[in-house]
This record gives sequence, C-alpha cells and structure tokens, in this order.
Amino acid sequence: MTVLHAPSLTGLVADVVPFSWVDGPGNRYTVFLQGCNLNCLACHNPHTIPRLTRRARTVTVRELVDDVARLAPFLAGVTTSGGEATQQPEFVAAFFAALGEQPATAALTRFIDSNGMTDDATWDLLLPVTDGVMLDVKAVDPERHRRLTGSTNERVLASLDRLHAAGRLAQLRLLVVPGFNDSPDELRRTGAYLTAHAPGVPVQLTGFRPHGVRSTARRIPEPTGAQRQAYAALVAESVPAELLTVV
Ligand code: SF4
Repeated sequence: MTVLHAPSLTGLVADVVPFSWVDGPGNRYTVFLQGCNLNCLACHNPHTIPRLTRRARTVTVRELVDDVARLAPFLAGVTTSGGEATQQPEFVAAFFAALGEQPATAALTRFIDSNGMTDDATWDLLLPVTDGVMLDVKAVDPERHRRLTGSTNERVLASLDRLHAAGRLAQLRLLVVPGFNDSPDELRRTGAYLTAHAPGVPVQLTGFRPHGVRSTARRIPEPTGAQRQAYAALVAESVPAELLTVV
C-alpha cells in the first residue's frame, strides 16, 4: 500500500467531535471511523463495530480537511478513533497526508487511537504521516484478551513493539474490567510487561464504566475510586508513578 494523496477518497465515519480533550494532547478534532475488527464486551460505542450500518456516513478527505481547516485556530491536533481507525488505513493516511500539506492545518498533530489489531503493512502506510498512537492494551494474557474482545492479542503486542521501536507510542490505555482483567496477578503482569516493552511511555488506567455498553455488560460492577487506586498500585509496582494516570 502507498499513501494516497487523494482528496476525493472516501471514508465511513460514525461521528465527528470537533473539540475533544480526551483523545490525545490538547484540544482535538476527533473522527470516529465506522467498523471494528474486535467485539469487546466492554465497548462503549458498540454501534461503531459493524462496518455496514445506516448510522454511518461517507465523507471525502477534502470535506474533512476543509472542516478541520475552519476550526484549526482552536485546535492542537486531529485524532482518528473508532470503531478501529486502522481498518480504513488508506483513508486515514490520505486524510493525515492532506492535513500535512494544507497551510491551515499543517501545524496540527495527527494521532491515532487504536486497538492494535493490525499488521506491519498498515503501520508502514500510516506511520510516515502519524505523530503518535494511543494503543489499547485490553489484557496481556491472550486468553483474557480473547474473553474480553473475541480475539487473542498477538497482533496487539506486535503493534506495541513496532510502535515503540518507531517512537510513535504516545500512550498505552488499559481498561480494567472487574472479573476479567482485574486480578492482582494480571495487573502486576501487565505493569511489568508494559515497562519491559515500552519503557517511558505514559499509561492511562481506566476503570470499567457501564455507560453506553451493551445490555450483556451492564451486570459488570463499576469499580469504586478505592478499587481503581488499588488497581493502579499493582500496576505501579512496575510502571513509574509519574507515567501512570487513573481515570
Ligand atoms: S476495539 Fe474499541 S471500538 Fe472496537 S469493539 Fe473494542 S472497545 Fe469497541
């Protein structure tokens, strides 16, 4: 695959949030792409999982770049999220390349929020036009990952190594789901793995919240603030405290 400088290329978009403070550094224009290759139990946007749905809309690279340019004076950057942004890699690459070419948007940073379930060829396409990736690590243990997402995690962990080697791993995101990946053993193992494979990379630990999840996940209890701090203490046995945030 080669980067397409194609303003008429179309992508399938679930939603756009023109100003977001939770999708990377600073105030960001976030594009939620439709379609995901995982099927997470704790997904907060399950309507973005199917590729084919009447809720999504088709937009061109030019339309998105024009909208970003209009708001650029108020933005630090642009993030593509999902769904899973790497499932539409040629569109994301063309969008990011076009942002870099336009004087009004060239200064904006370009980030991807990803589940990491992709391959080297996709990262080869995306990394030349991407400043940083925020990577979800749902579980280090393959079987726990499968119970949480429907797939084992070999490709996620390979993406982690690839992104760190490329200097593009901006943040690791760990969602702790009670009964699935919250055991002391798993949290200690996760902290040790992240420190060994991505030293110096910030880690954001989030406790499961039932808001927006499917009915089958609403029975999962939401961890209390004290429980989230206890999770963080276990991860912090390996991850330096200054790199760890809890939300
Ligand atoms: S990777 Fe994200 S969008 Fe995809 S199913 Fe999991 S939580 Fe939902």
